[in-house]
Amino acid sequence: MNDTSRLISELSESMKRGDLPPWRAESKLLDQGVKSPDHFFPAALARKAYVEDISGEAFSHLQVLEKPYIQPWQCPKDGIIHNLEAQEKDLTCTVCKSALTSYKGPLAGYAPLVASYVAGLEDYISYCGQITVRGAIDRSFVNLTAMGPGMSAIGLARGCFLVNRFGGAEVHVEPLARTARCMGYIFAKPETRDRAREVIEANLERITAAVNERLAKVGAKVGQVEFGTDNFGPDYFLYVCFYGDVPEYRAHGEISWAVGEAREITDFILNEARVEFNLSVIAQGYDGDFKPSPSNKRGRRVSAQVRIPVKTMEEFLEKPVDRFLAFIEMDRRGVEKLGWFFYTGMGAEIISGLYKATRINPRMPLTTCLERIYAFMDRGDLVYGVELPSVEAGVWSSIEGAVPPTGREVMRIMGITNTREFCANLAAQVLAGEFNLACEIVRGKLYSREVSRLY
Ligand SMILES: [Zn+2]
Repeated sequence: MNDTSRLISELSESMKRGDLPPWRAESKLLDQGVKSPDHFFPAALARKAYVEDISGEAFSHLQVLEKPYIQPWQCPKDGIIHNLEAQEKDLTCTVCKSALTSYKGPLAGYAPLVASYVAGLEDYISYCGQITVRGAIDRSFVNLTAMGPGMSAIGLARGCFLVNRFGGAEVHVEPLARTARCMGYIFAKPETRDRAREVIEANLERITAAVNERLAKVGAKVGQVEFGTDNFGPDYFLYVCFYGDVPEYRAHGEISWAVGEAREITDFILNEARVEFNLSVIAQGYDGDFKPSPSNKRGRRVSAQVRIPVKTMEEFLEKPVDRFLAFIEMDRRGVEKLGWFFYTGMGAEIISGLYKATRINPRMPLTTCLERIYAFMDRGDLVYGVELPSVEAGVWSSIEGAVPPTGREVMRIMGITNTREFCANLAAQVLAGEFNLACEIVRGKLYSREVSRLY
């Protein structure tokens, strides 16, 4: 065994014993005399070995970069400092195309690609702790994420540690998710629109049966059909929105085809009844596709909360718990003053980090990033929680589309086997990240002159 492999195994062994937080591997190696940037690669390998040990799963698709760090370069012409991945071969200024020279100024040196890096060539995967959930789902997950290059992954790991110490995240996951697609009709007169609605309602069983036949492929069925009206100028609108209840899958494709067929049937029925319409369409504004709105009915509601005795919390904060509650309210109102209807703190970053690491659909988790935070006192405890009202997720490589092997591997290592577990993990991670952030802000530990450096 050479020196490097001995160092790697010593590091991962001390992580397993709990003597070394996994994100401290780099600084430990520097302490032992390994010179930067040679410490980044063994630190990543040690963390990888640790994650394999705690998850019982091996990495096979996720590769580890040999140079998992960035190095600074400078443009001699315009002075811009470029932080480039060490693998990068294009060493020209993106602005003026001059050849870059090695940066020699203050803080010159190598920086980690991302905090707590474990693998990934394009999306850099970080380890961000383990989280225990209970309630709707009972299990522990090993968290891997593809968040940004900052300290968020470490803050998240720290939050998970706190939540676990207080008994884990109590999760609520709705048993059914919803999918939605809306037929839209445009009429010249309000009377014609009213007549169309009557005809559609009289034939609704037959139209819905066609939708159900297609939705059955993903184990879903129509739970609600909603009618809505509006008008603008000479046009009178009729919305007929079909909502499907989905135990698994996301069912976005199936409901689209199903309601597309329903619209063709409805056109035929309206024509037969001699109800004239100017246009028949899919009105995708009303069905909420990628619309971050509190009244969006797509997806699944999921929440996670933690309960902490007030005395414990006050010792931890070194402040009365009322101050913590006041901060949560101040933050919530700050968001409202901006005109945003829901709170999003660190959540949107955590949520997109998990979607990016697992590569599940939808690849743009816009609606899923809606988040509400709550905190209240109950029987001598502080209860702190997060609610995600519309999480859309399809987990497997399925008829809904393929998930790349790296994404499947992330889920396998994490211990996610279905949509409900994905949602439970997502809410628990958001809880942990937000809770840690709120605590650190109230304790006055964040955003100070002291810069946390990993290298
Ligand atoms: Zn330049």
